[in-house]
Amino acid sequence: MSLKGKVALVTGSTSGIGLGIARALAAQGADLMLNGFGDAAAIEKLRAGLAAEFANRVLYSGADMSKPEQIAAMVAEAEAKLGAVDILVNNAGIQFVADIVDFPTAKWDQIIAINLSAVFHGTKAALPGMKKRGWGRIINIASAHGLVASPQKAAYVAAKHGVVGLTKVAAIEVANAGITVNAICPGWVLTPLVEKQIADKAKQEGRSVDQVKADFLSEKQAMTRFSTPEEIGGLAVFLCSDSAQTITGTPLSIDGGWVAQ
Ligand code: NAD
Repeated sequence: MSLKGKVALVTGSTSGIGLGIARALAAQGADLMLNGFGDAAAIEKLRAGLAAEFANRVLYSGADMSKPEQIAAMVAEAEAKLGAVDILVNNAGIQFVADIVDFPTAKWDQIIAINLSAVFHGTKAALPGMKKRGWGRIINIASAHGLVASPQKAAYVAAKHGVVGLTKVAAIEVANAGITVNAICPGWVLTPLVEKQIADKAKQEGRSVDQVKADFLSEKQAMTRFSTPEEIGGLAVFLCSDSAQTITGTPLSIDGGWVAQ
């Protein structure tokens, strides 16, 4: 399958799952607009490395996904400099863990802005161009937490359930415009977002990181292994293929049996 001639914008692609998806799309020939935070020199090295490895055009936007006007500007920049946004992967996300009574209001607002509202703003900005070209793929990185809950993750679970709902609305609005909109719902993926939760818990409970890792997996998943960013990238590539053209409005689990239980 080739994505040659297509342009993919992947939010939060300087790390973890977003980077895995960006690499997988680039490997199929897509041009890229990267986005996310991090050290400027490291990001430039990443950008240039991807461009060289896959012989694609690769740009980077430092837009902050909590700022609607920066999201719209990033989409406009990709369209102006790369010609289109054919594939939008709404992936940027953060986590914060606390009981509701202790949950800082500012953290709630920030998680809703980055994990949920950014998906709306990105979708709103990218859809007109996709409609005009008669082809588009929107892939929202939700979570197993878009389908089921865990304690102490009020904002995250609310945002991810919201993403699944928004995915359905967008999908049916553009169902006959050549555009599909789906949500990927990963279980545990060992990225900095999860490594921090594991390290915090290990410190709190005076246990080893390996013990806590094993507990994280067995507590939630039937399968006691992590999914990888490469595997999530593989699913994103499939959703961009012709075989997936009638898959729309669907949360797709890739979670080692988390929500099957
Ligand atoms: P990560 O921390 O490795 O990557 C997050 C990315 O988002 C980084 O590139 C970061 O710079 C970027 N980002 C954060 N805030 C931003 C902002 N305001 N503006 C722009 N970019 C911003 O985490 P990850 O695990 O790769 O998470 C990616 C997505 O996958 C998130 O939406 C997360 O909720 C989801 N997810 C992760 C897991 C998991 O187990 N790791 C499971 C299910 C869903």
